[in-house]
Amino acid sequence: MSAAEGARSALEERVVAAVTAGRDELVGLVGDLIAFDTTARNPGDPARDEAALQEYLRARLAAVGATTDVWEPEATGTGNRFVPDDLDFEGRPQLAAHLRGAGGGRSLLLNGHIDAVSAEPRELWTSDPHKAEVRDGRLYGRGSCDMKGGIAGMLFAVETLQRLGVRLAGDVVWCTDTDEESSGAGAYACVAHGVRAEAGLCAEPTGFDAWVACRGGVNPILTIEGRTGHSETAQPHWSAGGAVNAIEKWELVQRAIRDLREDWRKRPEHEHPYLSPPDILPTVIHGGEWMVTYPSSCAVTLSVQYMPARVDADGSGAAVFREVEERLNAAAAADPWFAEHPIRWHWPCDIVPDEVPGDHPIVTAALAAARDVGRAGVVTGMDSWHDAAVFIRRAATPTISFGPGSLAQAHAVDEFVPVQDLVDHAASVALVLLRWCGVAE
Ligand SMILES: [Zn+2]
Repeated sequence: MSAAEGARSALEERVVAAVTAGRDELVGLVGDLIAFDTTARNPGDPARDEAALQEYLRARLAAVGATTDVWEPEATGTGNRFVPDDLDFEGRPQLAAHLRGAGGGRSLLLNGHIDAVSAEPRELWTSDPHKAEVRDGRLYGRGSCDMKGGIAGMLFAVETLQRLGVRLAGDVVWCTDTDEESSGAGAYACVAHGVRAEAGLCAEPTGFDAWVACRGGVNPILTIEGRTGHSETAQPHWSAGGAVNAIEKWELVQRAIRDLREDWRKRPEHEHPYLSPPDILPTVIHGGEWMVTYPSSCAVTLSVQYMPARVDADGSGAAVFREVEERLNAAAAADPWFAEHPIRWHWPCDIVPDEVPGDHPIVTAALAAARDVGRAGVVTGMDSWHDAAVFIRRAATPTISFGPGSLAQAHAVDEFVPVQDLVDHAASVALVLLRWCGVAE
């Protein structure tokens, strides 16, 4: 076993041994979680097994003595720029649980998102994505790595301590949320509900690294106007009433996007020890009505990723969004058509980044625990986004991602997590709990 190294106390030895001995039980637990269909939603999708999964976790946490709270947050309504408009949580409850320590220790948040991306295209899977299967030391199934394996490991760590009669000094705060894969609205609702602690672990598939930072993201839609007309007939100049091809007008904007991307990559303010530079690229394009008609419009969705350092004093990416609009509008203005028909902009919700220092004590604690079960991890970042950012920014809870499995398997066909990772993760979370929260006398 890999849990042979490291400096561990006698109690820690017992805890690691108990987790290791529980390997089959842990694998069964991950399988139970995968069997609940919690496919991440598209707008308007009905809820699936989210409530049943939360109830499963709630019951197990209650069994170890935690007070538990399962609730459906209010719908988001309109006007909150940090969550999508009109998102309801019917059938998608959040779960918070509180395991009170004996006192005198630090509290720790254990967080995970229960939604998992769609298993499509299902026909490419070797086995049923919603039925866990172990082959060659790997546990396969949708969500095995992102991130039901990590959720199981955190729960198994808590359960193992309880079975061994270990009472922690500090509190354990549990939070499993929904809607991480789409927007982070679940974590946002949990923070609004009062979830917080002195530090936090989020069980994303970091492969025992500590993700201390992420980039923010927004997906603006820009619409370029054209003017319809017959494509097979000669057209006068647009100023004389001629047709205008909205798709061809996109070219100028596209070039400006490439220039802005290159510019961003060169700016010293965008250098970060753990993150790639910011990015901007088109991801969806719609234009045109008919094969022989000049397209009346062309709408393009952009993927914009921005750095934590560019978050405004008001806690948003507004300055970045202004820059994008100004740069692209200015480039377009070289064409007189755009002066009279400016680009129309729509900015959906702003997924704000955040970070904790690479030498924060929770980072050190997680990496030391991993090392003490034979797993070497490093301090790094997540170029995409994770719920940890919400807990850092809105709940003053320094939170990192730390979990089993590799991001390379996340969202992939035949997603898997190595079984040894599951065991080592559960053991290292147990060590973090002992060391961070402290053990009651
Ligand atoms: Zn995830």
